[in-house]
Amino acid sequence: MRLSSAFLKTMKEVPKEAQVVSHQLMFRAGMIQKLSSGIYNYLPMALRSLRKIETIIREELEKKGCQEVLMPVVQPAELWKESGRWDYYGAELLRFKDRKDSDFCLGPTHEEVITDMVRKNLKSYKQLPWNLYQIQSKFRDEIRPRFGLMRGREFIMKDAYSFDESVEKSMENYQLMFEAYTSIFNRCGLKFKAVDAATGAIGGDKSHEFQVLAESGEDGILSCSHCDYAANEEKAVVKGKSAIPDKSLFLTMEEIHTPNQKSIDEVTAFLGKKPEELIKSMIYLIDEEPVLILVPGSKEVNEAKIQAFFNANVVHLADDKKVEEITGAKTGFAGPVGLKKQIKIAADRGIQEFPNMVCGANKTDYHLTGVNPERDFKVDEMGDFIHALAGEPCPVCNAGKLEEHRGIEVGQVFYLGTKYSESMNCNFLDRNGKQVPAEMGCYGIGVGRTLAAAIEQNHDDAGIIWPMAIAPYEVVVMPLQLKDEDVVNVSNTLYKWFKEAGIDVALDDRNERAGFKFNDADLIGYPVQIIIGSKTIAEGMVEVKIRATDEKLKMKVAEVQEWVVNYKEKTL
Ligand code: ATP
Ligand code: MG
Repeated sequence: MRLSSAFLKTMKEVPKEAQVVSHQLMFRAGMIQKLSSGIYNYLPMALRSLRKIETIIREELEKKGCQEVLMPVVQPAELWKESGRWDYYGAELLRFKDRKDSDFCLGPTHEEVITDMVRKNLKSYKQLPWNLYQIQSKFRDEIRPRFGLMRGREFIMKDAYSFDESVEKSMENYQLMFEAYTSIFNRCGLKFKAVDAATGAIGGDKSHEFQVLAESGEDGILSCSHCDYAANEEKAVVKGKSAIPDKSLFLTMEEIHTPNQKSIDEVTAFLGKKPEELIKSMIYLIDEEPVLILVPGSKEVNEAKIQAFFNANVVHLADDKKVEEITGAKTGFAGPVGLKKQIKIAADRGIQEFPNMVCGANKTDYHLTGVNPERDFKVDEMGDFIHALAGEPCPVCNAGKLEEHRGIEVGQVFYLGTKYSESMNCNFLDRNGKQVPAEMGCYGIGVGRTLAAAIEQNHDDAGIIWPMAIAPYEVVVMPLQLKDEDVVNVSNTLYKWFKEAGIDVALDDRNERAGFKFNDADLIGYPVQIIIGSKTIAEGMVEVKIRATDEKLKMKVAEVQEWVVNYKEKTL
């Protein structure tokens, strides 16, 4: 590409909303342009990198036997009604009507469409396994689009879906995809961690996220200082204590007047107790069924764990009216003893660690003391419902402690089971001649987010430092004096050589000063800069700058091509 005619404008200033480095640099390097909130034009430099990521994805998936398809962005509501997700998928699903008043949505993901596509072809186990993928624009009406391509509303995703005859075969596919993802992100030059993840509303019970470690990451990850346990904090397991208090310590339950003392801080201060001696009682609507969730007063409820435990589509807190209807008291005084309307009680294991707990009395302005689970109330479900925290013991090994990192989720793999195949009748004849639903998995990669994450990990004050494999151009040739015939001729010759040798090369033939070209080259982040100036060329030499190390080498014109080819091979 000759930059003199490139559709490229670099910028010194960044818009205020660009809070993270990747957004700032992509904007400044003339890669993206905002069209509307969370919706971007991809300009040539960005598209070249995105296409390279897509090529890596295609190559690695095809190695694992995946086949590419392309499904529509616009999806009919009927399919979403069949799977049941039309009713509970939140406002992220952009719904609309066509001229005939039929309901449609813009695809945020394609489980429904692919399940429909596959059921029309699937008859026998002999056809399986299938793993179908596409690379395509998704739309999610995100509540807070931000960070440029990292959290857009329209974004490019690779999504794949596997169909298998059995759980075991589905696990094999899961493993193949896990390996493919590892190769893909390695080839993109990223430092990442595969972590245990919650499955959320998509369903299923096994999942890993591929997290790129970066300060700007929106996800919290906990990993063990000793073993290789790592999980999204939504999923990280809290190691339970084994000691349960001695019953002889149990006191009589007492009702105490606690006027206006609602929060944990207020109640602990008022009663002179520690937060862990309180039972925090919250009413959640779990797929609309009210459940009283109990956790130690010192801990936070982990809604993702509740959703997973109950295999629920939607989990949210009950409003004040509902709380009053169930407890008979104002919000802030709920507890497990003497509910006005008995509902299911699910407790975190942590509430049994201490004897004689404090909880709301289901009576406005009153609390109970000396409360002991099982003696004073029945727990229907006991589980792990709180957030794990850094510094806590690792749930897997006995030696390590959990450490916290920030991560950018660039990909996720899920084992879905038969959630979609069952509700949508995607069945086949198995080895025993029985009609059974297909075992499914689904696998996503955010292509734009991967690009943004690569910049988060590879930049300096001057600009982007592209990993070779995903750089828009691998090399820039920079003639410094356009009036010097030798400079121009050598630049043109090198430019032509590189193109012929299959090197992605840009020629900065713009009529600009040297300083401008240097700044732009650093900002755009070409891995190799070839600087051609009158003085060096008079000696038959050129200067080569390696962006990643800032190393500058002088070499003969005749040696440059081979050096670049070798350097590329070494750094791919
Ligand atoms: P998040 O938790 O960040 O909202 P998600 O878990 O809902 O993402 P998935 O459904 O797992 O996302 O989608 C697969 C991949 O698509 C994600 O791993 C991520 O890389 C990418 N992705 C998801 N949402 C966005 C978005 N709003 N903008 C850009 N990429 C996204
Ligand atoms: Mg995800």
